[in-house]
Amino acid sequence: MPKPRRTPAQGEPQPHAGVSARTDHGRPDRHELVPVRKASDILPAYRGTPVERLLRWQNLGEDVGPRRTKAELLIGMCMDNRKVMRTPENYAFVLRTGGANLRRVEFKVSFAVAIGGVKAIALVGHDHCGMLGLPRRREEFVRGLVENGGWDREAAEEHFDSWVATFDVNDTAEFIAEEAERLRRRYPKVLVAPLLYAVGTGRLAQIVENRPN
Ligand SMILES: [Zn+2]
Repeated sequence: MPKPRRTPAQGEPQPHAGVSARTDHGRPDRHELVPVRKASDILPAYRGTPVERLLRWQNLGEDVGPRRTKAELLIGMCMDNRKVMRTPENYAFVLRTGGANLRRVEFKVSFAVAIGGVKAIALVGHDHCGMLGLPRRREEFVRGLVENGGWDREAAEEHFDSWVATFDVNDTAEFIAEEAERLRRRYPKVLVAPLLYAVGTGRLAQIVENRPN
């Protein structure tokens, strides 16, 4: 399955939707956000697929229609409580994890593909993700686990330290694009769409890789 790419025409504004064009290291972003404000904004690779239907329901407010008889899509998304996806009953398997990181839940992805028969995965990251810069939140995490979870401080520190590298996210769009690429290699017959959810509007944007100039 070819991965979606898009090269902006010369002079075309870069629809970055709040994401800066340059990263901290001064190089141009490797990824661009393509918003969906009308049906024609949907990338050709997604047209006629379960991903197009999700984008139409979520962004264009189209009627989701009646309940389905079987699932068409696996939605992998962050467990963050601020996100809701519009789909009809039975339409999608949903796997929610910190940062939409599916590395630790691969068997469930395989189940949705093998038994559930889904042909597409929408991998949905979001802005203001709590998994961004996780190492800086060590004290908050440890204190919270002691106070709210009833853990010993030492055990909480050890818990954080042993998992932080697995779940830390540096740049959401880049992480989602890389995770999508990994899933494409793992499930070559499945369409994988990296998307970014804006918490303020509830809308999805398509993450595409910029071609090197
Ligand atoms: Zn998140």
